[in-house]
Amino acid sequence: MGGMTTDIKLIDENGRRVDGRTPEEMRPLKIEAGVLKRADGSAYVEWGLNKVLAAVYGPRECHPRHMQNPTRALVQCKYNMAAFSVDDRKRPGPDRRSQEISKITSEALSHVVFTEYFPRASIDVYVEVLQANAGTRCAGLTAASVALADAGVPMRDLVASCAAGKAAGVVMVDLGKEEDNFGEADIPVGYVPRTKEIVLLQMDGDLTHDEYTKGLDMAIKGCEKVYDIQRDALRRRYEARSLDSEIGAPEGVQKEVA
Ligand code: UDP
Repeated sequence: MGGMTTDIKLIDENGRRVDGRTPEEMRPLKIEAGVLKRADGSAYVEWGLNKVLAAVYGPRECHPRHMQNPTRALVQCKYNMAAFSVDDRKRPGPDRRSQEISKITSEALSHVVFTEYFPRASIDVYVEVLQANAGTRCAGLTAASVALADAGVPMRDLVASCAAGKAAGVVMVDLGKEEDNFGEADIPVGYVPRTKEIVLLQMDGDLTHDEYTKGLDMAIKGCEKVYDIQRDALRRRYEARSLDSEIGAPEGVQKEVA
């Protein structure tokens, strides 16, 4: 992001991007809920060439005990990129980037989970990136949110996530790998559609105020599209049961802490 040069034409003479998209067009997104038998909740996301799995365990007793909060549950996300997920083999294990993404994902999800219902508990969210092509934090947060709902964790709403940014001087939604690498800016956003709250906002690179406002608006529109696809995935998972009662009526889905 910012500074790297390339011969790749990020915008052609017709205003199309490297993969033929318009600036307002997102990459294709597919979400499936409940893909793992052993987890309490799970989701699989394919977003362009990104492939991300999320698994949720809990609410369960928080270990180590000194981490417990007597008034609420901790939402603890672990984001991990598989060694084979990128072109150059990714060195296994946590690094600064994965720790940062784990932290911002945990914080974004903590805003929507009714953590006060589960004092001393931990809700563990694992995000595994199987294939990466830019935008994995948005794909991971989107998957994690569906996995939490699939686990029956009571939430105010889902968090939907999408980025916008700028490449070749054009503000655009959902940057792909080349746009992320050689573009000027990237703004990942996590959004709660029901309350219109922003629970994740980062910015990498430089934008003018107008570009930033335009980019944020594009990212939020992207989040709204993501939200529809998340809800469809949950609807399919729960078939006849209404999604609104699932995430809107915590009493019905409240789980007991062991
Ligand atoms: N990436 C990589 N190796 C790494 C980390 C990232 O090749 O160790 C690639 C990967 O495709 C990722 C992209 O760089 O999706 C952009 O990474 P960034 O840190 O901006 O996060 P993301 O856009 O995935 O949320």
